[in-house]
Amino acid sequence: MAQQGTLYIISSPSGAGKSSLINALLTQHNAAGKMQLSVSHTTRAMRPGEEQGVHYHFVSVEAFKALIASGDFLEWAEVFGNYYGTSRAAIETSLAQGIDVFLDIDWQGARQIRQQMATKSIFILPPSRAELEQRLIGRGQDSHEVIAGRMAKAIAEMVHYDEYDYVIINQDFELALFQLRAIIESQRLEIRQQQQAQQNLLQQLLAE
Ligand code: 5GP
Repeated sequence: MAQQGTLYIISSPSGAGKSSLINALLTQHNAAGKMQLSVSHTTRAMRPGEEQGVHYHFVSVEAFKALIASGDFLEWAEVFGNYYGTSRAAIETSLAQGIDVFLDIDWQGARQIRQQMATKSIFILPPSRAELEQRLIGRGQDSHEVIAGRMAKAIAEMVHYDEYDYVIINQDFELALFQLRAIIESQRLEIRQQQQAQQNLLQQLLAE
């Protein structure tokens, strides 16, 4: 049997540095092409700098609902007023090819996927409340109410941290990236993974 990839779920509040960590992981440590980020569908508006099909598949609410009806989504959720969903087909194909797939999704999606498939889930937390607030203030152009709203959303996500297998505190970016890689490396060394990855070697070594 070919080696199955691992499905990783990564969640965090906005402002914890999740996107930068995933980006660094996939651009700096994916020489073998064994890792892939799943591109979700969303109904939210495209932000400056985002590209169709790269950051998300941007679709209308009608198109999103049609995808729900046709069973295309492994999970979907309404996150702060917009729909987001993970399509099933691409993930299953990649995992079957031995590629590790990363899902950047919220706690609601994480719950749905855990009920259906084996996963390793990782929650990224900011190092302090003050630091999170700083990161949510951004360029300093938003009102107190807007920032308080972002903080409330962040807390609503963070209260679910204990549903995850691992927690990384993103204080020092390089350390957090190292810790993320450590989780992935240790998963690849698990006995059942190694039995598949090292089939030939094990046969040779154990032959009488
Ligand atoms: P943003 O709009 O800032 O890109 O993402 C908002 C939130 O939606 C983030 O917490 C992100 O992880 C989550 N999200 C993105 N894609 C999906 C998805 O396919 N499913 C679910 N459940 N959440 C998602």
